[in-house]
Amino acid sequence: MVSALPLLGGIEAGGTKFVCAVGDAPQAIRASTEIPTTIPAETLAQVIDFFQSFALRSLGLATFGPIDLDQHSPTFGHILSTPKLAWQSCPIVDIVHAALGMPVAIETDVNAAALAELTYGAGQGCDPLVYLTVGTGIGGGVVIQGRPLHGLLHPEMGHMLLARVPDDTRPSGCPFHADCLEGLASGHAMRVRFGTPELLPPAHEAWELEVRYLGQALATIVTILSPQRVIIGGGVMRQPHLLSRIREICRQALHGYLPRLKSPDDLETYIVPPGLGAQAGVIGALQLAQGIALPQS
Ligand code: ZN
Repeated sequence: MVSALPLLGGIEAGGTKFVCAVGDAPQAIRASTEIPTTIPAETLAQVIDFFQSFALRSLGLATFGPIDLDQHSPTFGHILSTPKLAWQSCPIVDIVHAALGMPVAIETDVNAAALAELTYGAGQGCDPLVYLTVGTGIGGGVVIQGRPLHGLLHPEMGHMLLARVPDDTRPSGCPFHADCLEGLASGHAMRVRFGTPELLPPAHEAWELEVRYLGQALATIVTILSPQRVIIGGGVMRQPHLLSRIREICRQALHGYLPRLKSPDDLETYIVPPGLGAQAGVIGALQLAQGIALPQS
């Protein structure tokens, strides 16, 4: 299918799959496909093949990290020290740009998802907005004054350090940190520490630790970034018993200090699931493409 008008292209690059989409606008997707994440040469060849069927004006790439977002850096657009070893140092922006020959905008997957949720989803009107995903890994994105937050690198909320629950002596699932959020509460960490998360009953101690660590992390996020709302999604959060328990731990941790977060009702509208479901990342990628398709100021 070839469109008469150039389209926007978006890629959400994840650890298990790449979601590719083309559309007239971020929420007007005409075609999409999913490609397994294997090694860069194989996965990116299929990604490029998909987009070559369309006339595109620009491409947005929302990727797992860590990634170099500094346009003045010699390794701009390279994936950095990821545990996905085949992707370490992969110049993903250069590869896609060289093959398709159009401008490519890059962002972390979670920053792009935060942007999409702020514009179209459950975060509308809530700037600053935080988007936290709890899946195989844990990542957090932030949009402040309409722009994704970059800095020394970009937010790496999965690796914030936590106070351990005293009886929890099990090892961390993170190779870098003994007590970080991802090491104690990601889907991978749960698997390492307790077994397959989907098979653990709601009353299992693993879930009690899960809500304690996520509640503690959210209290820290709230005190540091002062978001107007926090969106929490990802595969682990599909467990229906988690969200209300996490809100309560967060409320207890804040201990009435923040006037707008004192009652359970306050938390109910403050920590919410994604409005765009699993599409937040790819819609955010299309927004990035839309941003560079406009005349540069
Ligand atoms: Zn860590």
